[in-house]
Amino acid sequence: MKLLFLIVLMYMFDQHKGNRLSNNPRPFEDIKREISDYSEVAKKIINLAVYGKAQNRSYERLALFVDTIGPRLSGSKSLELAIQYMYKALKNDGLENVHLEQVKIPHWERGEESAVMVEPRNHSLAILGLGGSVATPPEGITAEVLVVTSFDELHQRAQEAQGKIVVYNQRYVNYGETVLYRGRGALEAAKVGAKAALIKSITPFSINSPHTGIQSYAVGVPKIPAACISLEDAELIARMSSWGSKVVVTLKMGAKTYPDADSFNTVAEIVGSKYPEQVVLVSGHLDSWDVGQGAMDDGGGAFISWEALSLIKDLGLRPKRTLRLVLWTGEEQGGIGAEQYYKLHKMNISNFDVVMESDEGTFMPSGLAFTGSDEARGIMKEIMKLLKPINITQLFGNGEGTDISYWMKAGVPGASLNDDITKYFWFHHSQGDTMTVQNPMEMNLCAAVWTVVSYVVADMEEKLPV
Ligand SMILES: [Zn+2]
Repeated sequence: MKLLFLIVLMYMFDQHKGNRLSNNPRPFEDIKREISDYSEVAKKIINLAVYGKAQNRSYERLALFVDTIGPRLSGSKSLELAIQYMYKALKNDGLENVHLEQVKIPHWERGEESAVMVEPRNHSLAILGLGGSVATPPEGITAEVLVVTSFDELHQRAQEAQGKIVVYNQRYVNYGETVLYRGRGALEAAKVGAKAALIKSITPFSINSPHTGIQSYAVGVPKIPAACISLEDAELIARMSSWGSKVVVTLKMGAKTYPDADSFNTVAEIVGSKYPEQVVLVSGHLDSWDVGQGAMDDGGGAFISWEALSLIKDLGLRPKRTLRLVLWTGEEQGGIGAEQYYKLHKMNISNFDVVMESDEGTFMPSGLAFTGSDEARGIMKEIMKLLKPINITQLFGNGEGTDISYWMKAGVPGASLNDDITKYFWFHHSQGDTMTVQNPMEMNLCAAVWTVVSYVVADMEEKLPV
């Protein structure tokens, strides 16, 4: 009986193997050889991007763009101008199928805002209201503060929170973990009867600079105003209150939410020569917060993605599959433009080979983060070896990007740029996100990685296995 079971099992295994072989009949050695044949093309791309004529181009294009347009908040006039600017720029660059795809995005404006400590001494606080926050009454909210270091502490001291302004002085662990205080700070404070929430900015470093970002309310819980304050002010208030001082703050916010606005995802292509319906997507988001210039988040990612298409065009290359650039809109409000793009295009999901997004800075790159099957990972590892001339060959786990997450959740392989993010959150969503934090040589290297990978995946004989 056991033997029979074993025979059946072996038969099934054999069948399974056969199926796999018929889907992917080529031995891995063959695929490896195919990839290593791209080493000359990879060198050409690297030379053009890093040492040749295209050197510093993505940086210079980005500077002209952000210096001309400025920050690009969802629903704002300047985001509209940015999209028109890019439409023209991509056309002038000679790219194909340049077009705009209409979507609806949130429209919130911060208006006038201020916060002043009125007790125990007069001190003006640096604040940035959070995206989607409600306003205070015109005369503001004046209340004593309750300082907490965690949601747990807030819940333990729920009785004390009634009628107060809750100040979160949480410790920064990492962005992913600590950002919960920005996202849910007002909601949790409102549940225990607070009048407003002031949250220590989500950053490990500060020169009295508040950082904004999106936050959310919940049905059935009162909406209270929410803003981020600087590390320095959060710690000042915490120290004063630990000495037993009564700290009173007057918060004024003129924020307003308008009906959703018309906007667009901006698209350009190099149409594939053999499988034009199949797509390798490279992307970054065009919108930003309303402070700084949005040069880092995500101007850099958007412009190295454009650069990938420019470099391939300049070298006279045309991959077998279509290389598609998408500049997303409404990302900062929660990937709103990308979600509508996914809904519109998901019926063609089997044609999407890989989706790529760069949205964590374009600092010194170390490689690529990738989400996909083990087989696909093996192929990507080989492709990364083509970047040996600039020594940026690492393949990490977990490709990331709000805008490409819809596709990755549905099983499409996804990749994001891995770079040195040591300083990323110093500037993120703050007045400090300007061209001054960008570096042309680092952008050249990022563009080279982005271009080699997207070109080779788009040109290989077969799509990445899922
Ligand atoms: Zn971003």
